[in-house]
Amino acid sequence: MNTTQFSFELFPPKTDKGFVKMQATVDTLQALNPDFFSVTYGAGGSTRDRTFETVDWLVSKQIKVAPHLVCIGSSETELIEILTHYKDQGVNQIVALRGDIPSGSGLVEEEGILNHANELVSLIQRHFKTNFHIEIAAYPEYHPQALSAEQDLQFFENKVKAGADSAITQYFYNPDAYFYFVENCQKRQIDIPIVPGIMPITNFTQLARFSDSCGAEIPRWLRKKLESYGDDLDSIRQYGEEVVTKMCEKLLAGGAPGLHFYTMNQAPAVVNIWHNLAVKV
Ligand code: FAD
Repeated sequence: MNTTQFSFELFPPKTDKGFVKMQATVDTLQALNPDFFSVTYGAGGSTRDRTFETVDWLVSKQIKVAPHLVCIGSSETELIEILTHYKDQGVNQIVALRGDIPSGSGLVEEEGILNHANELVSLIQRHFKTNFHIEIAAYPEYHPQALSAEQDLQFFENKVKAGADSAITQYFYNPDAYFYFVENCQKRQIDIPIVPGIMPITNFTQLARFSDSCGAEIPRWLRKKLESYGDDLDSIRQYGEEVVTKMCEKLLAGGAPGLHFYTMNQAPAVVNIWHNLAVKV
């Protein structure tokens, strides 16, 4: 299959036990030969050390890594320090994001610091032009704070014009949302690869809560079916793998330039979907 980008997202574990589990997950997923692993980052540097620790470990294993970097709540000086650290390590890909201000954190949007991802992309371009391939976030179902679809798309275009090289989407379960988004981008001559973000379905309660807050819609037919399984986690996982595999097949057949899996530091569902797809083994 002629595809360009398959990647896995990790979060930096909070505990030693979590770190060991994440290492085992990476070992399993690395056998699938992905293009890179990305590692999330908390607004205001809340996961800075843990993200560094995870990135350091991946670098030490010579695994290609794209650290996420969030600009909200951090000064330009701090962001440049972090980027310099990554550059010195030989990291050459960054996922550049705004992030969200955690409630109760005391952080606020401020004049004079970077409040939107396009400003972070510009900062990277200004200081590290040739060092990093820059990924940005895209929202086929639109960002939850977007005032209008048109404006959200305009802001996405601004990030691309600032110098982004490719995009990864928020997860979704409606492939048409992705195809329309890509079509609307093409109408604006946005031609960077837009890789669908794929969230395997393993725990419906958690997924429903998370989806409400990040604006990813679980279609009624899917929600109803998953609800009907109650606490039967095996059936939820099995049905989830079937649905997500079919969606991935449709996305790839429709021209998606790869897939980015939100692994939640768990391998089994991703491995099963990957094998179902027989993309790259
Ligand atoms: P932006 O592109 O800045 O957009 C945010 C909102 O502001 C949108 O509503 C947009 O329409 C609007 N906007 C953009 N520019 C302007 C402007 N100039 N004026 C007014 N409004 C504007 N979060 C984390 O904290 N850590 C992570 O590691 C992380 N990884 C992610 C990875 C992916 C692939 C995705 C899709 C999301 C990730 N997130 C992460 C979540 C993300 O940080 C949030 O969705 C955040 O609210 C928006 O980030 P953004 O980079 O898309 O922001």
